[in-house]
Amino acid sequence: MTVKVWREVVRVQRNFLWGGLSKRRRISWVKWTDICKPKKDGGLGIRDIRLVNLSLLAKWRWKLFLEEEEVWRNVLEAKYGEGVLGNACIEPAVYGNGCSPWWNDLCRFDREGHWFNQVAVKKLGCGNTIKFWKEVWVGNLSLEQHFPRLFNISVQQDKLISEMGSWCNGVWRWELLWRRNFFVWEESMVLEIEEVINNVVITEVEDRWVWSPNVDEGFSVKSLYFALDELLLEHTNLNTFQTFVFKNIRKGAVPSKVSAFAWQLFLDRIPTKENLARRGLVRIEDTTCSLCDERAETSCHLFLHCRFAAAVWYAINRWLGVVVVLPAEPMMSYGLLVGSGGNKKIRKGFSIVWLAFVWVLWRARNDRVFNNVGDSVDNVVERIQRTSWQWYLHKTAKGSSLLYEWIWNPGDCMMR
Ligand SMILES: [Zn+2]
Repeated sequence: MTVKVWREVVRVQRNFLWGGLSKRRRISWVKWTDICKPKKDGGLGIRDIRLVNLSLLAKWRWKLFLEEEEVWRNVLEAKYGEGVLGNACIEPAVYGNGCSPWWNDLCRFDREGHWFNQVAVKKLGCGNTIKFWKEVWVGNLSLEQHFPRLFNISVQQDKLISEMGSWCNGVWRWELLWRRNFFVWEESMVLEIEEVINNVVITEVEDRWVWSPNVDEGFSVKSLYFALDELLLEHTNLNTFQTFVFKNIRKGAVPSKVSAFAWQLFLDRIPTKENLARRGLVRIEDTTCSLCDERAETSCHLFLHCRFAAAVWYAINRWLGVVVVLPAEPMMSYGLLVGSGGNKKIRKGFSIVWLAFVWVLWRARNDRVFNNVGDSVDNVVERIQRTSWQWYLHKTAKGSSLLYEWIWNPGDCMMR
């Protein structure tokens, strides 16, 4: 798959996620790379198609390392020269104009990040494939880079490691040859290079390629996908509190559109007026809160500090019999309420109520914005009770409760 194609695939995936099947273009409220993060990092765990594609390309590069008689390898060798087989970096001279797009992608796929030689690693055996001076095999520089002066007086500049010494009664002996005698100040360098190479164990087995993401089983697309995820994607480290929250909103029995909404809310990616204004979709003068008409409509205001929301929140807390301070932002609000439950069942129940709270409040807000229909605090509270009851019933097969019982004593119903 060429770069052009995966871009298009990502575009289709993205539009589908945000717009469903409708033709209308929607706004992507969450960055695509955030969505591709694993669920434990607060993403949706959708596979990043670009990484999948790189993993599939890498499979061919890995196959070039293996000593297998295959026709396609012979074709490549005939076309692009011997150097393309078993070589971690392919010379720029053998690709470019006139080559197939597949081959060009294959040669250049790790331009960003230069990750390929971090996953495909040459394991030194007898040194029959590694150039002593020019390749990296001890430390993280080549010996040519490390000892440029000595390299200049070596007569073995292009030799392989295995050609730089010999076996004598089962012991490897280095035989480094020089163009001339050393100057005094070069002698310490010679001692240094000898110390470096004497610490490396040369064996009689052949050098081989090792697949570092999975040394035992060798190449797999899956192992590379996860390695690339580590190497190339940004990783936000969620603290334990955030991990707790993201884990919990998915566990609930609420419809997936609701947990998705909560997820967007936690990332502050819901279309509040303030967020729309930031994207230039509404004028900055038109951002006052739809519920109270007093302050700017940010997600923190709308769900916590708004006069209307606070009144609803107060009634809900009283109904649940909890005392929770007014937190600074939605994720904290969720964590505090759920965390205040004394046991697992109550915490699950509180999670459902909190999600019903944001969902119903958001719908009330939308009713006011789009249909110009206002609602009273009491009505919203009642809808939250009814909605959470329905989700709760859906979750529990046994010990179901009646709506009036749920309203009368939610804690008792959650314990059933
Ligand atoms: Zn308000």
